[in-house]
Amino acid sequence: MTAGDLDIERAVAELADDLPLPLRALARVAYDYRWSWSADGPALFAAIDPERWARSAHNPRRLLTETAQANLDRAAGDAAFLQRVARLALELAAERARPSCGGPVDAAHPVAFFCSEFGVHGSLPIYSGGLGVLAGDILKEASDMALPMVGVGLMYRSGYFHQRIDANGLQHEYWIDSDPERLPCVKVTGADGRALAFTVPLDDEDVEVQVWRVDVGRVPLYLLDTDLPCNSEFGRWVSARLYEGNRAIRLAQYAVLGVGGVRALRALGIAPSLYHLNEGHSVLCLCELMAQARADGAGDGAWERVRGQLVFTTHTPVAAGNESYQRDEVLAMLGRITELGADRERFLALGRVDPANPGQPTAMTALALRASRHANAVSRRHGEVARAMWQPLFPGLSADQVPISHISNGVHVPTWLQGAMRALLDRYLGPGWMLRAGQAATWEPLRGIPARELWAARCEARAQLVQLVTRRATRDRLRRGDPLAYAKAAGSGFDAQRLTIGFARRLATYKRLHLVALLPERALALIGGAHPVQFLFAGKAHPDDADAKDVVHRVFALKQAPGVAGRAAFLEDYDLALAAPLVAGCDLWVNLPRSPNEASGTSGMKSCLNGGLQLSVLDGWWAEAWDGSNGWSIAGDVQADAQAQDQRDAHTLFDLLEREIVPMFHQRDAEGVPLRWVEMMRNSLLRNGPRFSATRMLGEYVEQVYRAS
Ligand SMILES: *Cc1c(COP(=O)(O)O)cnc(C)c1O
Repeated sequence: MTAGDLDIERAVAELADDLPLPLRALARVAYDYRWSWSADGPALFAAIDPERWARSAHNPRRLLTETAQANLDRAAGDAAFLQRVARLALELAAERARPSCGGPVDAAHPVAFFCSEFGVHGSLPIYSGGLGVLAGDILKEASDMALPMVGVGLMYRSGYFHQRIDANGLQHEYWIDSDPERLPCVKVTGADGRALAFTVPLDDEDVEVQVWRVDVGRVPLYLLDTDLPCNSEFGRWVSARLYEGNRAIRLAQYAVLGVGGVRALRALGIAPSLYHLNEGHSVLCLCELMAQARADGAGDGAWERVRGQLVFTTHTPVAAGNESYQRDEVLAMLGRITELGADRERFLALGRVDPANPGQPTAMTALALRASRHANAVSRRHGEVARAMWQPLFPGLSADQVPISHISNGVHVPTWLQGAMRALLDRYLGPGWMLRAGQAATWEPLRGIPARELWAARCEARAQLVQLVTRRATRDRLRRGDPLAYAKAAGSGFDAQRLTIGFARRLATYKRLHLVALLPERALALIGGAHPVQFLFAGKAHPDDADAKDVVHRVFALKQAPGVAGRAAFLEDYDLALAAPLVAGCDLWVNLPRSPNEASGTSGMKSCLNGGLQLSVLDGWWAEAWDGSNGWSIAGDVQADAQAQDQRDAHTLFDLLEREIVPMFHQRDAEGVPLRWVEMMRNSLLRNGPRFSATRMLGEYVEQVYRAS
């Protein structure tokens, strides 16, 4: 039994009670996100009521409770549909029943994977971007590998913000509260039938915390929630928003995640073999683990015992992204986490670059690096950057001796490989190939796929994206009050045959979306040329990042130019639901980070899987993926003069587009297939498919990190 099993069973029974008898198996399916990466899962729910499915943000619990009875009855009377239900329910049940993989982690002592955000699915809005999506992909991959793991995170009531852009190109943010009672999750109860609860002392309040469970295949994800009536408004607010602007509240969140996370696992009866801290936000778990070790009588060995259980992944090569707190800030919020006792000074000191200097702030990353028995970065280049960046923590060691290794990120193939391309690869790569996606040999049959078929899959994915863009861009424009002719141009302008170029990610300034707007005449020439291209942009700027918002504004300024209306669109409110069709449908995926600020980047990997080609700065993952035959590169050198570098890189970007990319896309054989382009797709899939799959990534975590416990 795993904590929360009975609660899930109860919720499933309750949902099933309201369904027609033949559909009851769907209730269990609805409470396990495993459906979302099953080939037929999303289509199956959509078939019941496509409109309600969209309105519920693809949340099956809501769909099944909100759709009209007539829709359920119709589905219940459709024999072919019922066969699909049976197949999916069986698939999921078999998944759950599979024994755990033999390996370094036994089922009684799982890996506890801590992260401040989890991007599991669009209907569970507790993520903002790459870090969360990676965390979600790791849980899913652990499920596929039958690796014993539990996730620990926060149940943000209002999650990350939603984005609107007004007609002047100004970003506006708003938050929507999500109600966990309508999400596919359950509140975990104790043996007494009451909600399991414990407290975390924050500031001058003992804040009560409850725990939700969400099933991500075989992996339970436990989400901590302080929005309870017994807490003060402050206490309730702690778990309200992801990447909350208020520093003190963020520190309180880190304590709930770290200290609360360890308390939760103990209350749930889960004894992890190790704690994997994905980014430094959860490092305060150290305090609670030290207190436990001391209570167990570990004495002087407590520190080494705890260190032996912690492993850490750093994701942030930007200094400002590594948060630090002054001593008085820490003591004000966490002073009553009294279990720190004699360890308090040590803990404050180990987060300083120079532990002996009490004037320095305590940094989460520094603390995590010193407190963990293993630390890694997320790409080869990020490893080099992180070792140099944190060398001051290791006096006496040269940068290349700093104990930070790297495990390059990867993406969960069944989540990100979509539609026609998925069907094509399923047909050629053989049954169960996704479980072996980390091995180069799995991808070898790609060599035998006729160019015509690869191209047809690409064209189908693009056509689907164009359909979606047509609808969404029209709606976005109507909503922001653009002239009707401009809004309608989105309805007729985008073309399913046209070279489609995508740029979508968090709009941090280092991602340099502004390069596109730096040489407007060249951008407009491409849009209006003999072989016109179409551009799709999406991404959110952090509410406090004025520079990033200004970039959106500058890109929007181009919309007045003739011809742009039907050939470029900025799609609002980038999230998982929008990312999937974008990475699947774009022919070319562009990434322009200022080196060396891109730790890895993962959206390009998703594009790659779907046969998209990359045009990227040689930073993050692309620095180790590009080989000259599988996409295009822009130099990744580090320059002091940022403006000069921007000019140079913008020119390189447009040179490549004009001289190589656009001509190659239009160089067709007698059947209309661009053979050189397709060969590049093939090279890219062969080389990058296995290397940047989550299968390879998690395999490396198991062998290089988890096994050493
Ligand atoms: C994959 C993904 C990201 C990360 O993209 P990067 O290329 O790493 O910047 C961000 N947001 C969403 C919704 C994603 O799916």
